[in-house]
Amino acid sequence: MRHVLKTEIVIDASPQTVWSVMDDLARYPEWNPLMPELVGQTMVGRTVTGRMIIEGGPEIPLGPVMTRIVGARELRWITIIPGDEGFSAEHYFILTPLEDGRTHLTNDEIFDGPTADQVWELFDTLGRQSYEAFNVALKARAEALAGASVSIHPAVHATVSNASGEGPAPDVLTIKCHCAADAVEVAISGELAHNHLCGCSKCWKPDGALVSQVAIVAADTAKITHHEEKVAAVDAGQSIVRMACTECGVHVLGRVDNPDHHFFGMTFVHPELTTAAVSPPIEFAGFLSSLIEQGAQPSIMQAVRGELKEAGIPTYDAFSPEIMDLIAWHKIKAAA
Ligand SMILES: [Zn+2]
Ligand SMILES: [Zn+2]
Repeated sequence: MRHVLKTEIVIDASPQTVWSVMDDLARYPEWNPLMPELVGQTMVGRTVTGRMIIEGGPEIPLGPVMTRIVGARELRWITIIPGDEGFSAEHYFILTPLEDGRTHLTNDEIFDGPTADQVWELFDTLGRQSYEAFNVALKARAEALAGASVSIHPAVHATVSNASGEGPAPDVLTIKCHCAADAVEVAISGELAHNHLCGCSKCWKPDGALVSQVAIVAADTAKITHHEEKVAAVDAGQSIVRMACTECGVHVLGRVDNPDHHFFGMTFVHPELTTAAVSPPIEFAGFLSSLIEQGAQPSIMQAVRGELKEAGIPTYDAFSPEIMDLIAWHKIKAAA
């Protein structure tokens, strides 16, 4: 006979955060009382193996097959014990986004087959309690991550206090690498434009920062004035050739050499390296999802995006709409 175990909870974290906790099997031992061990890849058709602990009941070996995955919305797997004494158990998690940024979680399991009645006795009692304990543990984990403090970049909060952009800026900005002696210096006579945070893996970041801060200047207004002999390309194959001090590793500027490239004529610099007291406001944060490719936990992204939003910095996973429109137009212009 068919039985459905139903449990639910509301979590004060985004579906993406809840999902990223559930989808990170390697960290289950840190928080998951129901399935302290589950190994494998959550991809449709794959089998994951581990164990389930019913509090006050038996420990059950697990080896379900993933049957349905809709990122940040639904995770479903099935265990089938074949034969006359067999049964099937289809476990599914449905994440529903709520209007206020919270998540409604359904954690249900359908038992069916010849011996489902026997299994149901256990799951209807102790099993239900353990599923509810799982929901509570997941809620605690996700809510802690959603509200965690993250060290994004020192300029994020500096920007708040300098949001008006007021303060005297010198006519020529000087960028210095981190070398105590014989520092590389770049003189910038143009305006810093499109100042933003970048989550890509290529840009230079100060120690402890999650992202870099980058601005654009007209290429003809940025000149290396001291110790050019110490400067070398980090990766000459990139469209933006980042030039670094070979001694301290700081990127003193990023050059665009290809005359057909949409950024040709522009040079990229890191404003925090300038000797000016005030740097321009941060207009946006780009390429944030790339942080995950560099090893950041997906579960911190809500905290990252939340902190930037609080600082008044819009977040994107490419450049800002303004720059994306310029790039799209460049393609049409260059092809004419
Ligand atoms: Zn240096
Ligand atoms: Zn970047």
